[in-house]
Amino acid sequence: MRYLVTGGAGFIGSHVALTLLDAGHDVVILDNLSTGHRKAIPSGAQFEHIDLVDSSAVDRLVAQGPWDAVLHFAAISLVGASMAEPYHYLRQNTLTSLNLIDACTKYGVKRFVFSSTAALFGGVDRLPPIPDNALVDPGSPYGESKFFVERALLWADRIHGMKHACLRYFNAAGSDISGRLGEDHRPETHLIPLAIDAMLGRRPPLKLFGHDYPTPDGTCIRDYIHVADLADAHISVIDQICDRSVTYNLGNGKGYSNLEIIQSVERVSGRSVPWEWAARREGDPSVLTADFSRIHQETGWQPKINDIDTIVGSALRWRENHPNGYSD
Ligand code: UDP
Repeated sequence: MRYLVTGGAGFIGSHVALTLLDAGHDVVILDNLSTGHRKAIPSGAQFEHIDLVDSSAVDRLVAQGPWDAVLHFAAISLVGASMAEPYHYLRQNTLTSLNLIDACTKYGVKRFVFSSTAALFGGVDRLPPIPDNALVDPGSPYGESKFFVERALLWADRIHGMKHACLRYFNAAGSDISGRLGEDHRPETHLIPLAIDAMLGRRPPLKLFGHDYPTPDGTCIRDYIHVADLADAHISVIDQICDRSVTYNLGNGKGYSNLEIIQSVERVSGRSVPWEWAARREGDPSVLTADFSRIHQETGWQPKINDIDTIVGSALRWRENHPNGYSD
């Protein structure tokens, strides 16, 4: 099979590309390297240095099909930045996706897998776990931009028959178990890599945002899914969308509080994480956990890495071996 992967130099895209290559498929990666890393592109993938804003370049690449599926990860994805620059986020993520979707329908792509997000559910606190059919109410322009793309894909199906899977990820974490890839966001805003770097003394003490949420220990609860499990889910859904489109929540189903994540980093490393309380971060819902029963029932997929220490341990190993991330 031959797949086009946008954003394949980023954290999740590179892990999915690696999984496809490991399974013996041909992979072409499109990335503008604005936040991705050239060194994250798995060997064996063909790389096209293209910006999705450039509709002519996108058109030329998509025309070089046939593609068994297009997997779309490329996006700007900082929730906080999207609150500061809402129209930049809305414009960038929707325009780039529309350029891609337009080209895909023009050249007869039949299957499209979209990297969506639990940020679609960030606008109101609700009872966890969140089912696949929960009311969408994005908590940020970032979440809204992803929802817009989901809606565009609905029309690509109705008008052109291009089937899609919209995968709403909860908190992607960890790294390739065999150590080939890792997580290197710049700036880094995610709890697990920040806690690891604070423990390693490579950052100032971690700031823990908020202590008075309505949770057992007062800190937010999130659902961490190992990036290899996410990658497996993509392979599962490609077979699923031959004749219908689907939307699935992708998580582990279990929630860990921010304090429990710090404890996990301390258990796995045997060292303490320096941290201090800080004010709540705008837009953080208190609890986000996934009900992933629909993808499980319909494809058989379920997360294999259920243990938070294994997830944290894989992230820690890569960081220890790559103190400067992909700059090493
Ligand atoms: N968090 C924190 N300090 C940080 C980064 C994150 O306390 O420096 C908290 C954040 O407020 C949230 C949780 O960790 O409650 C997970 O945040 P992350 O950015 O990793 O993922 P999100 O759930 O926002 O997608």
